[in-house]
Amino acid sequence: MTPGGCRVAANRAHPSRTGILRTMPPFQRRDITVPARVRFAPSPTGNLHVGGARTALFSWLVARHTGGVYVLRLEDTDLERSTPESEAQILRSLEWLGLDWDEGPYRQSERSDVYLRSIDRLKAAGVVYAAWETEQELEIQREQARQNRRAPVVRGRRDWTEDQIAGFVAEGRRPAWRFAVDLAGRTVIDDYVRGEVTFEHTAIEDFVVARSDDTPTYNLAAAIDDLEMGITHVIRGEDHLSNTPKQMMVIRALGGTTPEYAHIPLILGPDKKRLSKRHGAASVEDLRAAGFVQPAVLNALALLGWSFDDKTTMFTVGELIEKFSVARISKSPAIFDLKKLEVLNGRYLRMMSTDEFTDVLLEHLERTGFFDGKDAAARDLARESVPAVKRKLTTLADYDPLAGWLFRPLEIEPEAWATLAGDVRRSIQAIGGGLARLELLEAFTLDAIKDALQDQLHILGEDARGFLEPQRIALTGQRVSTGIYESLLLAGREEAVARYRHTLGRLAEIWVA
Ligand code: GLU
Repeated sequence: MTPGGCRVAANRAHPSRTGILRTMPPFQRRDITVPARVRFAPSPTGNLHVGGARTALFSWLVARHTGGVYVLRLEDTDLERSTPESEAQILRSLEWLGLDWDEGPYRQSERSDVYLRSIDRLKAAGVVYAAWETEQELEIQREQARQNRRAPVVRGRRDWTEDQIAGFVAEGRRPAWRFAVDLAGRTVIDDYVRGEVTFEHTAIEDFVVARSDDTPTYNLAAAIDDLEMGITHVIRGEDHLSNTPKQMMVIRALGGTTPEYAHIPLILGPDKKRLSKRHGAASVEDLRAAGFVQPAVLNALALLGWSFDDKTTMFTVGELIEKFSVARISKSPAIFDLKKLEVLNGRYLRMMSTDEFTDVLLEHLERTGFFDGKDAAARDLARESVPAVKRKLTTLADYDPLAGWLFRPLEIEPEAWATLAGDVRRSIQAIGGGLARLELLEAFTLDAIKDALQDQLHILGEDARGFLEPQRIALTGQRVSTGIYESLLLAGREEAVARYRHTLGRLAEIWVA
């Protein structure tokens, strides 16, 4: 048994309850073949992170693959932690990812009467009981269990006398309502990913379904919603596995049919530790702000625990819908590797047509405040710069360090200045020579610029680097930038000449000194 009290059937030697190893038969992986009604049920208590987005995607793919329905449900019963901002952010991220929903968003905060009615039905069915214990009394129970090395499984007392109850009421106590777990039973989940998972009920606490202020707990609300919304398949993170038997008990107590479940594996960082901010795996919005494009993020998410054939890493949305199958979701933890996402992103950027690339680049620059959308000149300049940067970007955020100089007055970076100042005479010769040739050009075209500078390079007997690096620094102020010939063309003769003169002036100052 795992600490969570569940037993997983698998194709390996496995200790039975008596401790004798026995081999469970391998389970037959199945696909979902009926039109599935699935839901994505985020809690709007924070941003949509990689894990949540992966759950959203897998659920959406099941709905689309089977011709089913995708329901969006916001689990906002935690009023203190739920915020409209995070709700808006989740919806924005889903829209950006292209995960459109067919129903909802439903909000649990708007469904209180549904839960109250269900709690009444559970009371009437006699499967829940009033729990009068205070939090302090419960903690004592848990502590005793820990001391006796038992799992701290909470059960409320059910043998209060009428006088005792009257006393509690007089004190102003109000009971929570706990589900009376049938201790003789067990719940078996026939999971699409994990196979048969058995929970012995002795290891499951009498979980609270309604708090003393009548508000429903997550396990109640989720179960009731899955039932009432006719959810046929629940696809969610493995961290919810221990909630599943509780939700199944509630649904069964109400005479309902439980959905089928696919618990998808945990996501770890490359260091095999649980995924966290440390791994750069922030929210979908953060990935967007960092310059990742939608198809790269979508594919990286799809490959978190699912694969088609071990080698394909780029799918169109149509291919994902066609090929996705819960039967190919791995049981072992998935690894989120930002480096791999970067590689994928670069590949997507290079594959884009110039028009597509221009659209995503301009949208990114405007959204991240690089320029004001109304600044037509800046937009045009960015558009013109596309051929010079398209093959050089890994993420859209690389644009600024490479090409941002075009939009700002010349400012020579300290280490670039050190390069020039290291050999002032040679720098002046290279930049002065370059300047003269640029000024003399008849037509300021890419070919003419290239020919003239190459010629000057030979006249000076310089190597390419020794000659071209000072040109680049004089123009951009940086040692790394868009290609020098393209950069000159983009800046235009007038601007280029002014920058060269400015740099020469500064060099002259230290030459004289
Ligand atoms: N609201 C839960 C969460 O965000 C998900 C519940 C579920 O999928 O059942 O973790």
